[in-house]
Amino acid sequence: MTLAVDENRVDEVVKSLSRKMLINGEWVDSASGRTFETLNPATEEVLASVAHGEAEDVDRAVRAARAAFDDSSPWRRMPHGQRGRIIHKLGDLVLEHLEDFALLESLDNGKPYAVAKAADVPLAADLFHYMSGWATKIEGATIPTSGLDPARYLGFTLREPVGVCGQIIPWNFPLLMAAWKVGPVLAAGCTTVLKPAEQTPLSALLLGELAMQAGLPPGVLNIVTGFGEAGAALAAHRDVDKVAFTGSTEVGREIVKAAAGNLKKVTLELGGKSPNVVYADADLDAAIAGSANAIFFNQGECCVAGSRLYVEAPVYDEVVAGIREQAELIKVGNGLDPETTMGPLVSQEQFDRVTGYIRSGRDDGATISGGDRVGDRGYFVAPTVLTETREEMTAVREEIFGPVVAAAPFDSESDIMPTANNTNYGLGAGVFTKDVGKAYRTARRMRAGTVWVNTWNVFDASLPFGGYKESGWGREMGSAVFNNYMETKTVITDLGG
Ligand code: ADP
Repeated sequence: MTLAVDENRVDEVVKSLSRKMLINGEWVDSASGRTFETLNPATEEVLASVAHGEAEDVDRAVRAARAAFDDSSPWRRMPHGQRGRIIHKLGDLVLEHLEDFALLESLDNGKPYAVAKAADVPLAADLFHYMSGWATKIEGATIPTSGLDPARYLGFTLREPVGVCGQIIPWNFPLLMAAWKVGPVLAAGCTTVLKPAEQTPLSALLLGELAMQAGLPPGVLNIVTGFGEAGAALAAHRDVDKVAFTGSTEVGREIVKAAAGNLKKVTLELGGKSPNVVYADADLDAAIAGSANAIFFNQGECCVAGSRLYVEAPVYDEVVAGIREQAELIKVGNGLDPETTMGPLVSQEQFDRVTGYIRSGRDDGATISGGDRVGDRGYFVAPTVLTETREEMTAVREEIFGPVVAAAPFDSESDIMPTANNTNYGLGAGVFTKDVGKAYRTARRMRAGTVWVNTWNVFDASLPFGGYKESGWGREMGSAVFNNYMETKTVITDLGG
């Protein structure tokens, strides 16, 4: 295999990286001195050992974040414009390290290097650039009161940072998820403890280094690498004001329970089982390409994966055949091979989970195309299309988080909507049609936080993202994200006279 990058560079980047945790601006070992290994999912070989952070380390990091949030700290006294410039600089530094980040993402997560380079890293940089502008633009209001003498009473609001945040992120877009969390926290003027996923800790560590280079004061961004128990300690910590979590719905419920102790604010970005509705009048080439992208992008390890495909009956066979064809064109392999368009799943656990769902689909009577393991090393699974499905099948109901789509035909606009919304989730949805009225009627009726029309997987730092129903609480990105990270304080003044 020829590599997309120089082999020496691979060693250099991995070796140069800190294996320690970032607490109070310093790289430190875990209190226990323990480490854990992160694997390359394409080879199953150890990539690096990193500090194994536990409750004690979380506590140390929270104390650093609390001190950095003190009223008289450099961070709290920093002019908002300067805060914005640091965030902007961090975006610049992310772009300057585009190739190193893409490499780390490919090695640690498995995703194709080219995809990380074209999507994950530029989107992360853009997020920081976008958020940098908000540092000076989050405004309170002077409010005309209702029952008070306006000559005597003045009411206005201040928007203040919520405080010390705990941010727990998953492994599917390690850098981008870190950016979605850290960007707004900094723009809001909060401090944070970030807990990357144990499967993919490396790019967050590079981000931490760059944040220090950008001029972030010590303690504003702390990074504790570790497992779920470190996340649980963060979610339960009494001195954390807010926890933001992205991951499975199951762990989301645990976060809510853990947060109840001090009733810290909680926002959640959880799972999905997103419906993709293709009408017969759609541009079928675009619908086929879009539907394949909806489920196969990032190995299907997307919370918004279009995993339930509903196609209007007259074009069902053609669309399904087109998606199967696209699946066959996908080159599954090591993410550093320039030919690769789909990498391995992130871990053995994820491989077992995805192949388990494919087996359950087969056992429940679905017809399967694809679905096999690819090679005998690494966690590779071929893109998979399930047909002859029924709504009650486990593989149709539950989130698989892999390249597995369940397809079914439908008869008309009126009967697809209850079916499309027949899920506890509500993260993403999509519709393909040339009829603008049908597109908007369908989008309007979808119980989902994002609806794509004639496209899929399009994101922007300015556009809010989050879930209805059991897909989450709150929105990330856009100006909406500041509802997560700001408190509103009302000041009422008696002017006398
Ligand atoms: P997945 O099942 O896709 O691996 P998870 O929801 O388990 O996703 O993990 C997402 C993030 O949540 C990771 O950083 C993980 O370490 C963390 N995590 C797992 N369990 C808990 C928990 N009980 N409390 C807090 N964080 C957790």
